[in-house]
Amino acid sequence: MDVNSAVWTVPARAREFGFFVDGQWAEAGDRPMSERKSPAHGVAVTRTVRCTKADIDHAVRVARTAFEDRRWSGLPGGERASVLLKAAAGIRARVEELALLESLESGKPIGQAIGEIEGGANIFEYAAGAARALHGDAFNNLGDNMLGLVTREPIGVVGLITPWNFPFFILSERVPFILAAGCTIVSKPSEVTSATTLLLAEILSDAGLPAGVFNVVTGSGSEIGQALAEHADVDMISFTGSTAVGRSVLLASAGNFKKVGLELGGKNPQVVFADANLDEAADGVVFGICFNAGQCCVGGSRLVVEKSIAAEFEALVAAKMARVRIGDPLDPNTQMGAIVTAAQNATILGYIEAGKREGARLVCGGEAYPSDAGQFVRPTVFADVTREMSIASEEIFGPVLTISTFETFDEAMAIANDTIYGLAASIWTCNLDKATDAFRRIRAGRVWVNTTINNGPELPLGGFKQSGTGREAGIYGVEEYTEVKATHIALGRREPWVS
Ligand code: NAD
Repeated sequence: MDVNSAVWTVPARAREFGFFVDGQWAEAGDRPMSERKSPAHGVAVTRTVRCTKADIDHAVRVARTAFEDRRWSGLPGGERASVLLKAAAGIRARVEELALLESLESGKPIGQAIGEIEGGANIFEYAAGAARALHGDAFNNLGDNMLGLVTREPIGVVGLITPWNFPFFILSERVPFILAAGCTIVSKPSEVTSATTLLLAEILSDAGLPAGVFNVVTGSGSEIGQALAEHADVDMISFTGSTAVGRSVLLASAGNFKKVGLELGGKNPQVVFADANLDEAADGVVFGICFNAGQCCVGGSRLVVEKSIAAEFEALVAAKMARVRIGDPLDPNTQMGAIVTAAQNATILGYIEAGKREGARLVCGGEAYPSDAGQFVRPTVFADVTREMSIASEEIFGPVLTISTFETFDEAMAIANDTIYGLAASIWTCNLDKATDAFRRIRAGRVWVNTTINNGPELPLGGFKQSGTGREAGIYGVEEYTEVKATHIALGRREPWVS
């Protein structure tokens, strides 16, 4: 939809939600409610239930029953595909409502939110095809008396824990693939951005998803997120969030050795060679760090630029940064909205102060962006950054770019790989040999050449090193939620063992 086709305003009253289990909305009852204020406007926009561990237990029981009685996994892939396609249509029919809630809860620009909701519908459409394409293998080469089959089965009940930065898009990169595989889900969205996950439950139900297959329980990570990760009757956890919480999810999973998929943090390099189209590269670098106000796991936060053009390129980046339109996320012209919470805002400003203290040269930004309500940060660039500075190595998760320079290709690769993370990287050069050599040597799950933060459901996503384990999306993303079973079928008469 066209962002200008509607007038976007903050609703007069906060919208109140129950939670969604066994195909229906559940009332809050005597559970406490959480109020979410728009990070850009400072007014309450949603109220969601703070569910308890008992609610997690109940939702897992419901999901277990729905899995065991095969009401979903027993259907032909074509029928699962049909539900996913209807869900995609349901998402498209409610784009405006979903995008407004997404923008209000997260602080992201409305135009971007619309793109992410429509992008989510597109992923559901792709995954519908994957539900039909999923298949196993046959070994017909074991002799006349044996046939070997490799079948894929849904892994079972999946606990899905998601973050606040792309609440609906990240959900859409997982849910349709998990459903395509035939699994059932207990979803725990971020406590600050739960609305669109709850609405997805309603959309899936309206699309004909059987009750109990997709359940949403809202509340705090340390309480119910942890309970889900620890739960003995959950077969797999798909966790997207910070590396620190990912580590605790991994430890919590040890009780029943559940499978864990982790999509974690990043400190992603933007490697710019002197032979790149510098104007396009500078545009990509600015987009890569300002998109979603830098709160993007694959955001390019480390500019690694060839020394011979570093000064020219730094000036290009600074000039473009000055033209980024910051402000009210509900203004269709806004490119960069608010920082999600006061705590995240303080973290970003703390890193900016650390950069100044540790001796990096401030090129632009370096402070909060003034506003009557909510919290915003000016896009910030630090040059002369050395590896021992905290801004060089730690994930800031805000619009803060560091610049370091290189003189040789090997040095560029060493700096690019000098991180505990391995989520994404971008390479800018007009030399195909150099680009190919670079993308082969960079240790990251996603590499972009002459572009950045591109995605599509066909290609998998995930991290090397401490950026995570497992892959989402593509056919890989469906297989991730399956178990592989080997079956030997003996044919003809058995050769007796007992004589
Ligand atoms: P977070 O780790 O604080 O929270 C993520 C989710 O985990 C939330 O739903 C939260 O409630 C829950 N949680 C918190 N404590 C928990 C616990 N002890 N047990 C189980 N669940 C718990 O992350 P965030 O602040 O919401 O998101 C920002 C982080 O997410 C960044 O580090 C970013 O890099 C990462 N991220 C990664 C990807 C990716 O695909 N790799 C995508 C988006 C965000």
